[in-house]
This record gives sequence, C-alpha cells and structure tokens, in this order.
Amino acid sequence: MSITPTHVVSTGFEERFGRRPDGVWSAPGRVNLIGEHTDYNEGFVLPFAIDRRTQAALALRDDTRINVTSTFSDETVSIDIADLDPQNLSGWSAYPLGIAWALGASGVELAGRPGFDLHIDSAVPVGAGLSSSAAIECSVALALNDVWQLGLSRPALALVGQLAENKAVGAPTGIMDQSASLLGQADAAVFLDCRSLEAKVIELRFARAGLEILVINTMVSHAHATGGYADRRASCEAGAAALGVTSLRDVSSLDLARAADDLDEETFRRVRHVVTENERVLATIEVLDSAGARAIGDLLDASHLSMRDDFEISVPELDLAVEVARASGAIGARMTGGGFGGAAIALTPSAQIASVTDAVLAAFAAAGYRTPEIFTVTPSTGATRDA
Ligand code: ADP
Ligand code: MG
Repeated sequence: MSITPTHVVSTGFEERFGRRPDGVWSAPGRVNLIGEHTDYNEGFVLPFAIDRRTQAALALRDDTRINVTSTFSDETVSIDIADLDPQNLSGWSAYPLGIAWALGASGVELAGRPGFDLHIDSAVPVGAGLSSSAAIECSVALALNDVWQLGLSRPALALVGQLAENKAVGAPTGIMDQSASLLGQADAAVFLDCRSLEAKVIELRFARAGLEILVINTMVSHAHATGGYADRRASCEAGAAALGVTSLRDVSSLDLARAADDLDEETFRRVRHVVTENERVLATIEVLDSAGARAIGDLLDASHLSMRDDFEISVPELDLAVEVARASGAIGARMTGGGFGGAAIALTPSAQIASVTDAVLAAFAAAGYRTPEIFTVTPSTGATRDA
C-alpha cells in the first residue's frame, strides 16, 4: 500500500514527542511524463503527482526551538529559529529546516514565531527520480503555511521549496517538482511554463484509455548536488550565452542550423535536446487533446533517445529498461527525472503490465544488474492537509 494512513505518522510523532500533533499534512512525489532538463531553461514540463506521499505531523511549541525527526533516521535534529541558515543545515534535515529558512528568506518574518516539533514519514522512494525531496519540502511548506497562518499561495510555496533545495540543500534544481507536488490533480498532469510559472492542469485520461504508467526504478541512485546535473546546467547556460539569448527557451528548432555553426559539437547536442524536448512537451499536450493518451508513445520514445544521445544523461540500466519495456508491450517509454540513475516510465496497456514487468526483470537478471523495483503509479492529487 503506497499511501500510509495518517495515524501511522501521528503515532510516530507521539512516540517521539510525547504528545499529539496539531495536524498532518502530506505531499506526493512526482513523475515527469515529458520535459526533462527544460525547467531551468525556462521551458516546458509536464509532470504529474503520484499516489505515493510524504506525510508531515507537526505541532507548534511554546518556545522558538525546532525539532525534526523522520522514520528515515534515528536522530532528532534540533535548532533555534534564530539559527536557521544554510550554513547550519546539512543532511536530510536540510530539507524540512530549509523550508523554514526559505520562508524567512522569502519575506516571512520569522522572529517571534513559535518553534515546532515535526515528524516525517514517507512512501516516496528516495533517489529514484520520483522527487522524495519535493514531497518532503512541500508537505512541510504546506504545514508551516497553515500553522504559522502565512496565507501563501501554492505557487508561492513551490518557490519556497525550490529556494530551500537550491540554497539550503545546495541542489541547483528547477521549479518543476514542487509545482507538481503542490498543484497536481487526479488523472491529470501539470503543464508548467517555467518562464511565466503559469501552470495548467492537463487531463490525461489514462484509465479511460486502458493505460497505466509503470515505473521501473533501476536502483541506480543519483546525486543532484554533484556532478552531471550541474554540468548540464552549465552547458545550457553556455549555449544560451553563445547564441545571444537569456535562456534556451528562446531557441526554436528553426534556429538549430545556425546553432550548429556557432557552438561546439557537445554544446550543440545539449542545446538540441532542450529545444526539441520543449517542442515534444507542447506536442504531447496537443496529441493528448486531439488523439488521446494512446497516441503519445512516439513522443516518449523520442524524448528518451534525445536524453540518451544528445544530453547524455541516461545509464545502461535506464536504456535497458526502456528498450525491453517497448519490446514487450509498452506503447512508449523514457527515463524520467534528472538522469544518471533513477527511474524509467513506460506507458503500458493494463493487459501488458505483467508481461512488461516480467520481461524487464528477466533482462536485468540476465545483464547482472540489481533487481529493479517495478510498480504502477496513478496521477493523483497534490499536497493536502489530512488531519
Ligand atoms: P529524489 O528527490 O529523486 O528522491 P534527492 O536526492 O533529490 O532524490 O532527495 C533525496 C533526499 O531527500 C534524501 O537523501 C534525504 O536527505 C531527503 N529525504 C527524502 N525523503 C525523506 C524522508 N522521508 N525523511 C528524511 N529525509 C528525506
Ligand atoms: Mg530530488
């Protein structure tokens, strides 16, 4: 069961803090249907919130102390509100404490606010490309928005989550994950224009089309704060600068011939991925509307090839998952998330779920890879107050 009942996190809170929480809030992880590494290029993404959530049980205190615990770890991390600063935050607690700091950095007066006890429980697998980080950030952001009575909108809370992840955790990620986690709705995706931050709910109607999304977690774990992700961002910035635009959003596929002359070969391929991926997101929305979910398979496949060959963020495990899923009944498949590990998704007719799962498991065993975790996800509602 992917959704933990709220009494579990409440009981966990009581065991640690010896009292009842004031409330329970939860926020989902997300799967990005299409639009990868486009968010920080002010482009387009189409994620959906999934039916796996992180729960935050919280109670205000009479003093200015913050205590955070998680089923994730045995430690209680404790800090005074006045000491909230990215320099003082590290490890898993940088996510929830980073939210409190980021609210302050976004203009909320923290001085004089009561501290809180917070306990976190999660059904979002970590490091699988399903954004357990946004789930924890958004559950805590919604909780603090309520108990501190801040009245911030969901888009504003998404920015707070991004600020926490960028500055308190140190991962240079975009706004997509928090937007999906806060704005998602059942059976729908969130189309986000990462320049205007305008969000639109897009009906997916997977169930009506007899389709499910299979997640194949390769169990190869990625690290956003280091290595390839930051490197790809730098390439995109360099490409935009060389082409004389503020972001790759302003480059279209008609400009690519010129870009090939102006850029070195590697930067050109990075740019081409972003430009064509933006166009694939828009095409996906059109096709969903005109022909339905069964017709978007080719776009998912093309997205994977672009990430594999042009952006070079796939790994052999992801390529194998995609290839075998397609060969055994999926109508489209791609790696999802930042890359270098994590998960692939396969849009699969319900009747083929078992055969695709079996084929991928067998192929991983034959290749000598770790056994992947394979499960379906359902497009679901965003962050909520649950108790
Ligand atoms: P992803 O978001 O793809 O799952 P990230 O590396 O961005 O991977 O975020 C994972 C990190 O988020 C974990 O290493 C941990 O620090 C933090 N985290 C996620 N879920 C929890 C949780 N339930 N309790 C404590 N920390 C968590
Ligand atoms: Mg993350």
